[in-house]
Amino acid sequence: MRYLIFGLSYLLVYSVAGWALRDHSMALSLFGNLGVIVSASIVIVTIVRRRRQWAGSQRLFWFTFAIGMAVWLVGHVGWAYGELIARHPSWLEWHTIFSLCGGLGPFIALVAAPHKGVRQDQTAAIGVNIASYGLLAGFLYSYFVLVPNIVGEGSEQALLVVVQVYRALLMMGMIVALIVGWNSAWRPVYATLAIGSVLGFCLRLITSHAIDIGTYRIGTLYDFAWITPFLCYAFAADMAPSSPEADEYVTDRPSTTLFAVMSATPVLIIPLIGYGAYQFQQTSESLGSFRLLLTGLATVAGLALLTLRLVVQRGELRRTDAQLRLLAAATEHTGDLIVITRADGSFEHANEAFHRAVGYSRRELSLMRFPQPVAAGYELLADMVTAEVAAKGLWRGTLHRRRHDGSTFPSAGTVVALKDRYGTATHYVNVERDVTDELRLRDQLVHSERLSAIGELVAGVAHELNNPLQTIVGSVELMLDDRSDITVSRHDLELVRREAGRAGHIMRNLLSFVRRTTPDRAAADLNHIVRQTAELREYHLYQRDVVLDMRCAVEPLPVLVNREEIQQVILNLLLNSEQAIDEGTGRGTITIRTLSLDGQHVVEVSDDGPGVRPHLRGRIFEPFFTTKDIGEGTGLGLSISHGIALAHGGTLTLRDAPSGATFRLSLPAHTPATRTTREPTPRPESMRRALVIEDEDPIRQLLVRFLERRGFDVRGAETGEAALALVPDFHPELVLCDVRMPGMSGIDLYRNLHLRDPEIRHRFVFITGDTNSIEDLEGNLSDVAVLAKPFTAADLDSVLKRFDPDAVVADV
Ligand code: ADP
Repeated sequence: MRYLIFGLSYLLVYSVAGWALRDHSMALSLFGNLGVIVSASIVIVTIVRRRRQWAGSQRLFWFTFAIGMAVWLVGHVGWAYGELIARHPSWLEWHTIFSLCGGLGPFIALVAAPHKGVRQDQTAAIGVNIASYGLLAGFLYSYFVLVPNIVGEGSEQALLVVVQVYRALLMMGMIVALIVGWNSAWRPVYATLAIGSVLGFCLRLITSHAIDIGTYRIGTLYDFAWITPFLCYAFAADMAPSSPEADEYVTDRPSTTLFAVMSATPVLIIPLIGYGAYQFQQTSESLGSFRLLLTGLATVAGLALLTLRLVVQRGELRRTDAQLRLLAAATEHTGDLIVITRADGSFEHANEAFHRAVGYSRRELSLMRFPQPVAAGYELLADMVTAEVAAKGLWRGTLHRRRHDGSTFPSAGTVVALKDRYGTATHYVNVERDVTDELRLRDQLVHSERLSAIGELVAGVAHELNNPLQTIVGSVELMLDDRSDITVSRHDLELVRREAGRAGHIMRNLLSFVRRTTPDRAAADLNHIVRQTAELREYHLYQRDVVLDMRCAVEPLPVLVNREEIQQVILNLLLNSEQAIDEGTGRGTITIRTLSLDGQHVVEVSDDGPGVRPHLRGRIFEPFFTTKDIGEGTGLGLSISHGIALAHGGTLTLRDAPSGATFRLSLPAHTPATRTTREPTPRPESMRRALVIEDEDPIRQLLVRFLERRGFDVRGAETGEAALALVPDFHPELVLCDVRMPGMSGIDLYRNLHLRDPEIRHRFVFITGDTNSIEDLEGNLSDVAVLAKPFTAADLDSVLKRFDPDAVVADV
């Protein structure tokens, strides 16, 4: 609509101004010429402005168009010069050839057929073809119009006929282009160009008649014959679709014969017309020789263009060939499975990876149809895939492929259609990937997510349970220490103390197991780690009638390890043994031995289950290798354990055993560097003041009583803030502080006190149910003493001894 308004306004202003200037011939001529020149310039400016938005043959189309318009402009400026300055305007001057040839630009541009797509690879060849047709046009005009006029045998009449014939050709060309490109995005462009050329043809009939009878004047309505089509061209250039970013690939290519004929036509036509007309038309000698010369020159130029065309085509073929080889090599060597099927589903090509994955030969595959070979239940996928590709342009999904040996694997892939120039799907490309490992890993991740959630839960529960356990243990101890006569219940109290202690022990094990592992390694006794881990499964094994035979070395086996990781290895071995026994009779014995061997400390986990079958021995340490059912085994246990052993400079091996299975974990023995042990801080006379900070009343009171019995002057504080208020007056020598407290945490309190008196670190004890929460913190807390809940009187004493061996007054 805006185009229509602009076009009509332009014409209206032109008509009104022309009418107003009708009596001033000079001004009218100047204005008229300007009006025509501006309308042609709008076309050029529009194309130049949008030039970067087109590529390949589409850019070529508009460039040819613009060059044509520019050449025409030169011609018209020449004419205007003749009229305005030289004052003898003539249609038959040097500039006529420019006007005529330039006017041909839009017609020759059609050779680029922009509606067929960018066709970057063919642009050079199309360019040469356009040049050939330009040459032919130039030849025809020169032969029939220019040369006769130079020689003096021409007439304006002939020129007018030629112009009208050209306008008719242009009109037909645009209409044909509109019909051919009807289904493309270029329809509105061709339609606008066709309207412009039809109007141009009709208006030019009237204008030519006016020129013929001598009534034509520039600046009048006759000029609509130029202005109207030019404005339409400008609108078409403005609305033309931009070229797509990526060149579209089509499965079929235009006929090369047609292309060859198109290239050769101008070169064949030039001598045919040139020499033919010379033979049959009676002309003067000079005109004849001019024409012969022209024909000769044009033929040579045409041949040169044809040769160039061949060179360009060869280069193009070589490039295409190299690109094809590259693509073929990439398809063959990629790890993805690529299958190309025809529209009817039959196999066109399957790459090497696909053959390897499914195990079928090319001949066997050629007898199948998409989506075969698949597991039962996936056969009907073909219709669904085709429908979805037609609707969305792509299908994405996972199917189960069937191998030649009958086994199956999940395969995730995408299917896209390859289309010909008319948009019909000729092939389907299916790119797939075997996702067995990924799915396993996903399951494993889900599993570990669940485990970590359970871990958090256990950590929370353990922490909550430690406090009541602490009260039970402590109170019982106090009762036992009491000198009053409780002999009747003494046995029961002992029992309560032992069991509560055991429960506390289990809590600590659970906590250290579920806690996030850190890369830090610390010296530890392998026996201790083994016992702690075995305790986790002890009850479970007992319930299932599996005997756990622990044979730990008597002497300590120091190793430098990440405790959680080594626990994980031992637990994995234990779980595997349990499962192996389950697979067998369901009853059996698991033996765990620790020993020192050739400078290595060793844990051996053996079971009397069915053992590992010989042919599987080499594979059990591979990630994801499992013989267990889905949901029971992930195949990660041994591979992770093996990795942990290697990372510790050790090994994990399957030992030869007459029956069952024996796995051996060897770790380098750790010889602790002899450290100068810190001299215990001597107890000054005044060191009898202790401060206990604990938010749980029963535990605080318990600690106060414990310490009072050991001769301390004790104050209790419920919060860190309350403790800080006490410190300046009380000057405690010993501080026992809970870690997790509402408000100021134990760690914050420690830092606060440490700022005032760095020596406090030798007199500070953290009390916690979760020792890892302190281990996770940075180094400056590492040498602070820790009392793990639930603790016994003996535990407290051993911590106190660290400060002063004499501080403990046994059996006060
Ligand atoms: P998963 O236990 O999840 O299968 P693992 O990596 O721990 O993964 O074990 C891999 C395989 O090694 C098991 O599937 C099993 O076949 C074999 N295996 C491991 N431990 C034993 C054992 N104690 N007795 C027999 N086979 C075992």
